[in-house]
Amino acid sequence: MKPSVLLCLALAAACAIPAAAREPGAHVHGAARLQVAVDGATLSLALESPLDSLIDFEHMPRTEREKSAVRAMAERLNKPGELFLPTPAARCAPISVKLESPLLAAAGKSDGHADLDGEFVFRCERPDALREIDVRLFAVFPHLRRLDVEVVSPRGQSASRLAPQQTRVTW
Ligand SMILES: [Zn+2]
Repeated sequence: MKPSVLLCLALAAACAIPAAAREPGAHVHGAARLQVAVDGATLSLALESPLDSLIDFEHMPRTEREKSAVRAMAERLNKPGELFLPTPAARCAPISVKLESPLLAAAGKSDGHADLDGEFVFRCERPDALREIDVRLFAVFPHLRRLDVEVVSPRGQSASRLAPQQTRVTW
């Protein structure tokens, strides 16, 4: 066996293990996951979503309609202050956004299924007042029906599930 073949097999095994170890349904169309971390004055949100939950396809955009759908998605996600509303008294403001997806890459590739990973960081003037986030993703992305949220804050850890009728995560 050539060394390059061995390398491919090793990589395939390395990739297969974390995928299998993930809880079932990590890539479920219509669902997404959000991790919320409160650390001092910093509120960090990590979103992991199948693209199908945000737009209605996961292949590289081909038509003008698909290209503009991808652009529109990125524009909405680049305004986290309109998507995530922390307790107003905590006076949080977004300071950074990072988006990662094969569909956003210049030479991206998608083999059937693809995700969008987003990192949104807020800085809060009164972090002690931070008790909840009203998540507006459902109104902006109607394909999204379910959001599994995990919160790690000075008050402990919690997990909850949001839906179009239940958009507030509290802790
Ligand atoms: Zn998919």
